Amino acid sequence: MSTIGVLALQGDVSEHEAALARLGVASIRVRRVAELEAIDGIIIPGGESTTIDKLLRAFGLFDPLQARIRDGLPVLGTCAGMIMLATDIIGGIDGQRTLGAIDMTVRRNAFGRQVDSSEVELTWLPDASTMHATFIRAPWVESCGPGVEVLAVDAAHGGQVVAVREGNAIATSFHSEISGDDRVHALLVDSCR
Ligand code: GLN
Repeated sequence: MSTIGVLALQGDVSEHEAALARLGVASIRVRRVAELEAIDGIIIPGGESTTIDKLLRAFGLFDPLQARIRDGLPVLGTCAGMIMLATDIIGGIDGQRTLGAIDMTVRRNAFGRQVDSSEVELTWLPDASTMHATFIRAPWVESCGPGVEVLAVDAAHGGQVVAVREGNAIATSFHSEISGDDRVHALLVDSCR
């Protein structure tokens, strides 16, 4: 049985743990390199990407995490986690680094300020079903490479790309961990088997 790590430096860690528990999957919190070695997949939660980047470096985790993802470790990033998985950021702060797992440029805080946070119905493209999604100071995908599969667009905000997958990495602009709809997490769990 797989164990999925939740990067627990900052952000909404417990909501991801609850989603994994609903799917019957074991999880551990990841703060150390040794924990990184004990997992079959990892989630980078929503929170604040500039802080997650700084703490990854302070905890000596940035390079080992990047190496494991490059080696094929399945990874899901939501909101700030999506930013962490991008190759490039528009609106990042000076020196902000990303893990570069998905060939995409994301725009930070693309939908506006905290007050512009919203809940919308998306079309989940893998099965053309509806998905209720919560956006909190979210990024969107400004552009992505030819190898990137688009999983959802936000018709309510001009058709922006808000969920993608490339190889072993999945990213969503929205907080799939707080809606109670666990289809995004299920995709990650499937890729850990
Ligand atoms: N705006 C945050 C950032 O830049 C992301 C917000 C979120 O994860 N809810 O990292």
